[in-house]
Amino acid sequence: MRPDILNPLFAPVTSLTGVGPKQDKLLRYLLGRDDTPRLVDLLLHLPASVIDRRERPKIRDAVPGTIVTLEVTVDRHRPAPAGRSRAPHLVYASDDTGDVVLTYFRAKPGYVEKLLPVGEKRYVSGTAQMFDGTLQIVHPDRVVDEAGFAQLTGIDPVYPLTEGLAIGSLRRAIALALQKLPALPEWISPEVLRRCSFPPLAEALQHVHVPVELTDILPEGPFWSRLAFDELLAGQLALALVRAQLRRPAGTRNAGDGELRHRIIDALPYALTTSQRDAAAAIAEDLKQPVRMLRLLQGDVGSGKTVVALLAAAAVTEVGKQAALMAPTEILARQHIKTIAPLAERAGLRVAILTGREKGKERKHILARLAAGEIDLLVGTHALIQDDVMFKALALAVVDEQHRFGVRERLALTAKGDAVDVLVLSATPIPRTLVLTYFGDMDVSELREKPAGRQPIETRTMSSNRLQEVIDGVGRQLAAGKLVYWIVPLVEESETVQLTDAEQRFESLKERFGDKVGLVHGKMRGTDKDQAMARFASGETGVLVATTVVEVGVDVPAATIMVIENAERFGLAQLHQLRGRIGRGSEASTCLLLYKEPLGEIASKRLKVIKETTDGFRIAEEDLKLRGEGDVLGTRQSGLPGYRIARSDVHAQLITQARDEALRILKDNPKLTGAQGEALRCLLYLYERDEALPLIGAG
Ligand code: ADP
Ligand code: MG
Repeated sequence: MRPDILNPLFAPVTSLTGVGPKQDKLLRYLLGRDDTPRLVDLLLHLPASVIDRRERPKIRDAVPGTIVTLEVTVDRHRPAPAGRSRAPHLVYASDDTGDVVLTYFRAKPGYVEKLLPVGEKRYVSGTAQMFDGTLQIVHPDRVVDEAGFAQLTGIDPVYPLTEGLAIGSLRRAIALALQKLPALPEWISPEVLRRCSFPPLAEALQHVHVPVELTDILPEGPFWSRLAFDELLAGQLALALVRAQLRRPAGTRNAGDGELRHRIIDALPYALTTSQRDAAAAIAEDLKQPVRMLRLLQGDVGSGKTVVALLAAAAVTEVGKQAALMAPTEILARQHIKTIAPLAERAGLRVAILTGREKGKERKHILARLAAGEIDLLVGTHALIQDDVMFKALALAVVDEQHRFGVRERLALTAKGDAVDVLVLSATPIPRTLVLTYFGDMDVSELREKPAGRQPIETRTMSSNRLQEVIDGVGRQLAAGKLVYWIVPLVEESETVQLTDAEQRFESLKERFGDKVGLVHGKMRGTDKDQAMARFASGETGVLVATTVVEVGVDVPAATIMVIENAERFGLAQLHQLRGRIGRGSEASTCLLLYKEPLGEIASKRLKVIKETTDGFRIAEEDLKLRGEGDVLGTRQSGLPGYRIARSDVHAQLITQARDEALRILKDNPKLTGAQGEALRCLLYLYERDEALPLIGAG
């Protein structure tokens, strides 16, 4: 149960004055929530930059093109003439050095008159411009009277916004939310507070939202850092709690005689790479140890993780136990079963699939066989963690592309057996610091080599102005029997426009290539997706228009061409993942990155990196660097997926400190009791990392 003291922060934003249904909708979108955001979501939405309004020149000295705050007296109004609503409403104002014109377009009648009453003194802030020899401010950002001015710090935070949401209304909502902040107990230990010179939480929030100095909102500054540490500590503490639970000594161990594994290896149409063999051996060793396995198998796309996972499953089957493989998407789960089933069959391993699509009788049948121990390896999606899915003897949980799953899912799966060993597969090569934030301490196996016989991928960038040439080129490739992925980014669909960009591209390519074009996107029904994938894999369709649903894991070795539209909109990791779908067969592959001009600086750097290298680890590192730069430029991209405040680049130091602190806390106070424990529970709830708390019981 969430401590009562936090309740005010978890009140819906709509409880704030001035936040209605319209803002609710915009804020949901902005803050990435499916339901109404809470005050805590607002407070943790930090500014991207600031506007400095402290420059307060006289009118005569105002520099055009700069942001100025003028103290003026309002002289007269010239509203837009009747019937000419496009003409601006002008307000003439002055100080003892000159005149300024304040210009309003399409103002509501009476609004400007009320804002700037004739004869009164006002403080007006905005960008100064010269127009016809007169100083002018178009739509001043701020107009306040003496009392209002006294409240301004002169520095305005600028938040990432979404279309339709005015900065003023967001600032007002955040200011109101700040007033509701309860006095929370301090959860950071005195030593850490001292060592890092962290301010108290309330002070930190106050300074980032109402900056007094330009430096107050810097991510590396004390205020932001304090918030980042809180977030990281919550994350690390949650992971440490889970880990402490998972690491409890296991009962019987699960290493068989290797019989099944040998049969699988014999059935493979290829030889395992050295790193695949090493990883399989490390896993077998883990399974023998008296503590539970917690291992991350990292390998770039196409490095062959699936077969290693299968070998792990075989090892527990050898002792009569069961394994589960959970994938983040339906397509991926089906893909796994497709690779695994033929190998498993020949070795005598019984496999089945369970996703949202297996329903009714079919599902019942699977569940019955599972409970009876007649299935050795169950592959599936989230459907695996539903309550009624019961194993006879689950001993191994393999989780693919894990960082898409939260701690909650991982726990739910491992709770379905006794002392379940955990193997996590990740295709994104994750730098060490990030491994820590996603998984806490874990043993790591890496698949560094690509399977033999892989051909290099040539990557080219091209302006989308040359789309026609690209389509012509695709035509030639099609004629030569090649398979082409055509990737279109998923754009938030508006309510009125029914077609997604992918559907539009599909239609336009169909006009040219007819039935040779297929389409797959996330909103399609599962069976339709499968069919589209299958038709492509079989070569029935030669061009597959797709959104990022093909990003992870999809394996069509015959596909050798990939066109990515609006490549500038994708992150580096995503581009790398996408590109990993080609270059899987024995033929050379080409990746064409189409970009819309003009290309921003960061985007152009990203494309350069992806063009230069296919080394996933290098790409991951460059990604971190560029994300950092993106943040400085105020674009909205959080440095650490799953984290709102902490940044991988700026706060790398804090990640390890938070980890150490979490470990120390659990050593001294494993059940989180006493005042300190109480405070830490508060922290876990605040950042919604409380899923591990039931493991240790009430404080
Ligand atoms: P990922 O690591 O991206 O999940 P997969 O496990 O899907 O990679 O493997 C990609 C492809 O490589 C599959 O078609 C698989 O059969 C093949 N493969 C795996 N290991 C080897 C190997 N040692 N030699 C040749 N091909 C391999
Ligand atoms: Mg895979």
